[in-house]
Amino acid sequence: MSVKIRFAPSPTGMLHVGNARTALICWLFARNQNGHFLLRIDDTDRERSKDEYEQAIMDGLTWMGLDWDDKVNQKDRTDRYAEVIETLKQNGRLYACYETPEELGLKRKTQLSRGVPPTYDRAGLSLTDEQIAKYAAEGRTPHWRFKLNHAPIKWNDMIRGDVEFKGEDLSDPVVLREDGRPLYHLCSVIDDVDFDITHVVRGEDHVSNTATHVQMFEAISGEGNVPTFAHLSLIADAEGGKLSKRLGSLSLKEVENTEGLEPMSVVSLMARLGTCDPIEAYTDITPLVESFDFSKFSRNPPKFDTEELYRLNAKILHQTNYDDVKSRLNDMDLNDLDENFWNAVKPNLEKLKDIKEWWNVVNAPLTSTVADEDKDFVAQAAELLPPAPWDENTFKDWVGKVKDTTDRKGKTLFMPLRQALTGMDHGPELPILLPLLGPEKVKKRLVG
Ligand code: GLU
Repeated sequence: MSVKIRFAPSPTGMLHVGNARTALICWLFARNQNGHFLLRIDDTDRERSKDEYEQAIMDGLTWMGLDWDDKVNQKDRTDRYAEVIETLKQNGRLYACYETPEELGLKRKTQLSRGVPPTYDRAGLSLTDEQIAKYAAEGRTPHWRFKLNHAPIKWNDMIRGDVEFKGEDLSDPVVLREDGRPLYHLCSVIDDVDFDITHVVRGEDHVSNTATHVQMFEAISGEGNVPTFAHLSLIADAEGGKLSKRLGSLSLKEVENTEGLEPMSVVSLMARLGTCDPIEAYTDITPLVESFDFSKFSRNPPKFDTEELYRLNAKILHQTNYDDVKSRLNDMDLNDLDENFWNAVKPNLEKLKDIKEWWNVVNAPLTSTVADEDKDFVAQAAELLPPAPWDENTFKDWVGKVKDTTDRKGKTLFMPLRQALTGMDHGPELPILLPLLGPEKVKKRLVG
C-alpha cells in the first residue's frame, strides 16, 4: 500500500515555526516514500477559523518549498460527519451528556481533591428517561461523548516505540457539541479513514488523543484498521525550556519578512532537528528528502537554538547563485546589482537584506566623516593608490604602501580611510569594497 499522509493545521492562527516543522516532516516522509501529501484544513471551529489564516498556512508551506497533492477542508464535509455520527449513535458508541462546563469543572475539582484521576464519570450513561425529559424541559441540549472500551490500547509508534494506554484511564472524548457541531477528534478520524491515510504524524501533545482515536478508527472501520502513528517530540528552546517566545512562536511570515531569513535555513534546521543526522546548510531540499528516516528521530525534545538558524542562513546565502536571488534583488529595488557585485559581497552577508547597506555604500552619495586632522593623511593615501585593475588584494597592497610612507598604523591608519570611503566607522569590509567602488570613486571620496 502506498503511503498517504496528511498535514492538518487549524486555521485559527498563523503557521508558526513549530507547526512548520510538523508540516515539513510530514512532507519529507511523503516524498521520501513516493507517497501522497494531503493538506487538510481543520476548520470545524467556525468562530476561530479564518480564511486569511488558511491562506497564510498555504503561503508558509509554499515559501518553504512544500507542495501538496490534494487539499480538503473539514467545513465541506459536515454531511459525511453527520452520517458517521448517526451510525455511531445507533451502535451505542456515542452517548448524550447534559453537564454544563461549570458542572464538569466542579466534578474535576472534587476528583482532584480526593486524589482521583479527573476522568469523566460517565454520568450521561445512567440518566433516566425522567432526568432527560427534565433537561429537555429546561431547554438543555446534550453534547455527545464517544464511549471508550475499557480495554488496553496499544500501538507501535514510529518515534516512541510501544505505547500503551488503558481505556479506563481516559475520559470519553466529547465529539459533538450542544449545537450539533462535530469536534476535531471524530472529524479527524473520519477523514483519515475516508482519505485512506496510512500514517498520522503529529506532535506528542496528541499522544493521549491518539489513544482515543485508535478506538474510533476501530469503531468506524473495524478491528485493526488503524494507521501507523509517529509523534514528534516538541521543540524546546536552547536552555531546554518550553518554546514560547522569539522564533518558536514567530509565524513563518515574520521569519520571512521581519527576520528576513531564507526558507532553506528553516528547512535545513527543522528537517534535522531532533535526529541523529548532522544539521547542515542545504540550498536544495532533495538531499533532505533522500536522507529522511523516522528511525533517526529521538524521543527527547530537541533544542532549538535561534543562533543556529542565523548561522545556517549565512551559510546558505554564501552558497546562493546570483540567478537564484536576482528576482528578490529586483524586489528590493536593486535591479542594477550585477553578478560581480553579488559574488563579491555574498560571503559577508548574514541576511539578504544586509546587501542593501553594501549597495548604498557603493552607490549612494555620502558625506565624509573624516576629521579635519586626518584630511591630509587621507589625501596622501589617495596618491598611493595602485593602478587598475583592482581585486580583493588591492587594499592590502595599498595600505602596505600607506603604512610605509606615513607614520600611521592600526586604527589611526584604517579609520580615516574607512570614514572617507564609507562615511561610517563600521561596516563592509574594505578589501571587498575597494574593487566594487573602483579607482575613480575611491579617489573622489578620498580627496573630497
Ligand atoms: N488540527 C490539529 C492540530 O493542529 C491536527 C492534529 C492532527 O494532526 O490530527 O493540532
